[in-house]
Amino acid sequence: MNGILWFHRDLRVSDHSGLKEALRLGGVWKAVAEESREPHTPAGKFKRECLENLRSHLALVEIELYSGSRLEIETLLQEARKAHPGLWLFTSRRMNHRDQTDFENLIRDFPKDQIRIFEEATLYPEAELLFSLSDLPKTFTPFQKRVEILNPRIPAPLASPVAIHPSPKDPVILNGRRMEFQGGESAGLQQLRSYLREGGPVDRYAETRNGLLRIEDSSKLSPYLAQGCISARQVHHALLDREQETGVNAGTRALRYELQWRDYFKFLSLQAGAKLFEPAGLKDSVRESTPDRELFQKWTAGETGDRFLDANLTELNETGWMSNRGRQNVASHFAKILKLPWLWGAEWFEQNLIDHDVETNQGNWMYLAGVGTDPRDRVFNAELQAANYDPDGEYRKRWSSR
Ligand code: FAD
Repeated sequence: MNGILWFHRDLRVSDHSGLKEALRLGGVWKAVAEESREPHTPAGKFKRECLENLRSHLALVEIELYSGSRLEIETLLQEARKAHPGLWLFTSRRMNHRDQTDFENLIRDFPKDQIRIFEEATLYPEAELLFSLSDLPKTFTPFQKRVEILNPRIPAPLASPVAIHPSPKDPVILNGRRMEFQGGESAGLQQLRSYLREGGPVDRYAETRNGLLRIEDSSKLSPYLAQGCISARQVHHALLDREQETGVNAGTRALRYELQWRDYFKFLSLQAGAKLFEPAGLKDSVRESTPDRELFQKWTAGETGDRFLDANLTELNETGWMSNRGRQNVASHFAKILKLPWLWGAEWFEQNLIDHDVETNQGNWMYLAGVGTDPRDRVFNAELQAANYDPDGEYRKRWSSR
C-alpha cells in the first residue's frame, strides 16, 4: 500500500495512530507538513525545530518528510494523486471550522474512500465521551463534573516506533529576560519528564500556576501540545504514573483539570463551527465594539499606559510567550475596557504566540470578551491583578521598555 501521511498539529511519532497504522500496512509512505508562514519569529523557529525533529524520527522508519508552504502541499497532493491513483491519505482530524474548510478544499480531488482521519488531539476521544456534542454543557464546570463522573476511557498512548533521545539541553530556558523554547517531540517529552520528576515543580503547580516570572511556575507544555509534539493522552498517563509513585496531590489534580479545559474548548469548537470566528461568538448578537486602529496598534506595541499590561504585551512581542494570567488581563482590557473587536486581539495572538492553538485561543478570547462561555462575564482589574500577582513589581521591572 502506498500513501501520504499528512502531519498537521500532530508533529510526533509516538502516540500517533495514523503513523502506527501506516507502518502496520507497509508499502511506500511519504509524509508532508506545512511550514510556518513567519519563519523568523519565535513561533516560526519553534515550528522549524518541530519539523526537523519529526524529519529525523521519520527517517528512522524510512519515511521522508516533505515540508513546504500550503500551496506547495496542495500541488504535491495533486501530483501524487495523478501519478498514483490508488494512493491513500492519512491525516488527523481538523478540530475547527476554518481548518476543516481549508482541508476540504485541499482534498477536493481526492477520492473520499482513500482518506482516513485519525483522532490525535484530545484527551477523551469523542466516541468515548458518553454524551453527544449537541449535549455539550454551555460552560466548563458542568462539563468537567460530567467527565469526572462518567470517567470516559482515555486510551493508553501508543509506543514510539523509534527510540527518542532527549535533547542535550534543557528544552525551556531563560536567556536574559527571554523565555526560550526548543521545539520538537524530543524536547516536549523531556519537558514533560522534567516537570513531573519526583519532588519536582508539579507538586507546587496549584500554588504557582499563576506565576509570571519562573519557568517552573507552570508546565510550559503548551507549545508542545499545540504543535502535537506530545499528546494530551501522554501527559495524562505520565501524570497517572507519577500519581502511582508519589500519590495524587493538588498539583497533579490541577494540571489534569487544565487538560480538561483544553478538551472543553476543542469539543466546543467542533460544536460551534463557524461561530468561533464570528464577532458575536456564541451569542445571538454582536457586542458593542469600536474598530479603532490607533488604540489597537498601541495595545499591540505594549503602549497602553498600564505598566502591567504593557509588560505582558512586550514579553509576547519579544518571545512569543505570555503567562495565562497575563493573557487574561490583556484580553479582558482589550475587549471590555478598550472595547476593541475581540477577533483582532485573537488574531494578534495567533500571529505571535509560540503555543498558538486555534480552538484554545478562540475559546479563551470569546470567554474574556463576553461572547463565549464565561457565566459571570467578568472584567479584570489590571491594577488589582498586578498587586496580587506581581506584588514586588519584579515582573513589571523585567519587562519595562528599554
Ligand atoms: P499550564 O498551566 O501548565 O497548563 C497545562 C496545559 O493545560 C497547557 O499547556 C494547556 O494545554 C492547557 N491549558 C491551560 N490553561 C488553559 C486554558 N485557559 N484553556 C485551555 N487550555 C488550557 N493556550 C494555548 O495553548 N494556545 C493558545 O493559543 C492560547 N490562547 C489563549 C488566549 C487567551 C486570551 C487566554 C486567556 C488563554 C490562552 N491559552 C492558550 C491558555 C493558557 O494561557 C495557556 O495554555 C497556558 O498559559 C500555557 O502555559 P502552560 O503550558 O505552562 O500551562
